[in-house]
Amino acid sequence: MRGLAKTSRTHGAMEIVDRDRPEPGPGEALIEVDYAGLCGSDAGIYEFESAFERMDLPTVIGHEYTGRIVETGEGVTKFSVGDRVVERPIRGCGDCYQCEIGEENVCQNAVITGVDHDGAYEGYIAVPETALHPVPDSVEPKHAALVEPTSIGARAVIQNSRVGPGDRVMVAGPGPIGQLTAQIARAQGGEVVVAGVGQDAEYRLPLAEDLGFETINVEADDLEVRRDALTDGVGYDVVFDTTGHPSGLTMAVDEVRKGGQIVLVGQTGETTMPYSPLVRAEIDLQCSYASMYEDFERSLRLIDSGDVDHATFLDERFSLLEADEAFETFLAGGTCKPLFDVSVLRE
Ligand SMILES: [Zn+2]
Ligand SMILES: [Zn+2]
Repeated sequence: MRGLAKTSRTHGAMEIVDRDRPEPGPGEALIEVDYAGLCGSDAGIYEFESAFERMDLPTVIGHEYTGRIVETGEGVTKFSVGDRVVERPIRGCGDCYQCEIGEENVCQNAVITGVDHDGAYEGYIAVPETALHPVPDSVEPKHAALVEPTSIGARAVIQNSRVGPGDRVMVAGPGPIGQLTAQIARAQGGEVVVAGVGQDAEYRLPLAEDLGFETINVEADDLEVRRDALTDGVGYDVVFDTTGHPSGLTMAVDEVRKGGQIVLVGQTGETTMPYSPLVRAEIDLQCSYASMYEDFERSLRLIDSGDVDHATFLDERFSLLEADEAFETFLAGGTCKPLFDVSVLRE
């Protein structure tokens, strides 16, 4: 079989490599991968951002995917051949203090599929059954492939925000996590507006509109005028920063109402700003990172119910055999959530 691997420590350097079909070890299931999404972090590996310097290369990437179990290793009890599954790709060690107290998303020794070991852009992958989640029959495979990013939004909104019915919500950043966060905040009853920059005007802001949101282009629109119109001059109750850009937090501080909440989801690097206004306005600054079992459960239900519309969200124009095009288009904002048919790597 073949896989798409990061092969050297430079921009790009994604190559199709030959791999042996893995054998499932004790407690592992072998999954025939059907579909896999392209995530912002996969694009980070493509660009080779500093967060990925720890990677041993070559490593097959890809961590959001779905498939069917075709073989089980010794001692597998919860899953059988034929079961449809998704993987929780960020895995705690089970041993550190955070894992002991049920916070494995912030485990001190977490390993990530497609970063610390071979991922899902390959025909087959062997995964411990403890990291697998069953997919209900009612959820289509193409939509199931996107449970993992959906779970990031579910955690940000349901576990870590206070969004409730009638709340005015801004989601800054119309990337994959932003579009999912916006849909889940709406499902929680929020009135949601999605904000992007000039680069987003071509694809990502129109996508947010297709998903039913009002949008703001912060480079073309007057933020203050829009805020006054949408919030009666009060400011948003909750602002989610999914931009991954240093300007996201400072913008969130301008947009949130006094006594409101900012939820940081994107990893924004460094920024300098005066903090006294946050204290004087009693802003609740909350972070959200990765996701856990419960967030996966909720995501499957949100997809199943239609609250999260993956038919509109996913973009099937790209192939893993010409993946550079998908990565470059993603980085230029010309797509939001490429979804690959992984079966081409078994041919
Ligand atoms: Zn991801
Ligand atoms: Zn741990």
